[in-house]
Amino acid sequence: MMSYWGGGWPRYVTVAEKKAKAGRKLKQLLKKNKDIKPVIIKGYSIASTWWGKAWNQNLEKYADYHNRIGRGRSYVRNGNVLDLRICSGEIKSLVQGTRSKPYSVVIKIKGLKKDVLKKIKSACEGKLDSLQELLDGKFPEALNDIFTAKGTGLFPSPAEINFDCSCPDWADMCKHVAAALYGIGARLDEDPELFFKLRKVEIGGLIKQAVEGRARKLLNKAGEKKARRIDDSELEDVFGIEMDRDIRPVAKKKKKAKKPLKKAVKKAQKKVVKKTVRKIMKRQPGKRKRPR
Ligand SMILES: [Zn+2]
Repeated sequence: MMSYWGGGWPRYVTVAEKKAKAGRKLKQLLKKNKDIKPVIIKGYSIASTWWGKAWNQNLEKYADYHNRIGRGRSYVRNGNVLDLRICSGEIKSLVQGTRSKPYSVVIKIKGLKKDVLKKIKSACEGKLDSLQELLDGKFPEALNDIFTAKGTGLFPSPAEINFDCSCPDWADMCKHVAAALYGIGARLDEDPELFFKLRKVEIGGLIKQAVEGRARKLLNKAGEKKARRIDDSELEDVFGIEMDRDIRPVAKKKKKAKKPLKKAVKKAQKKVVKKTVRKIMKRQPGKRKRPR
């Protein structure tokens, strides 16, 4: 039971007709510019990965948005978001409305505040066990809570979001802006790294923090014991994470060869960060409830 505020349809238009209209417009636009990036929703859910869902849920959390953003749901589902590009701090979108010419939507989002980022980073410290969970195919609750905390997490609050649309319905959040906001969630499904580009944050930094505590402990301990060399299996124990098989052939390596500790720890840290970032970006929430 969708109601359409501010105007609406002159007669009942079926979803199929709406989709067809948006499809025709998209074809026209693609002829002019093959680089446009439409938001295409497959199935009923607007977003299906952790990043996309977390984005949308964040917006729905805020009372300012709660009532208005719903107007964009059917729009994005019907393919009305004909173009959406996420850049650093800004999203540009073309949204098909009732008029023939698509409306132009610009959404500006502030970068993550330095003090918020600092707090998130320190909250991540020592969450190495969570990284292991992540690598096992679950999105860890501990990180989930840190990342999605209202106002202190990674996701923007309405105060950090500004938007503008070329339609006449400028008083409130119009359908086109709402649709574009949901479109961002859908786009993050495809490429979660865009989230970090948008909020001007480096994800590696967050993961590094989680690993660093343990590395520091190890180095301190080694200082006391004068054990200055270490091999891969010991490192695996320390980080609790299986090191990547080296790409280089193992044949030439002596099995028990020990490496200088500091260098080895740094290298291992880098590996863990890289591996985890790769994994975190691919995390599908559907896999959380894997049947045993
Ligand atoms: Zn509008």
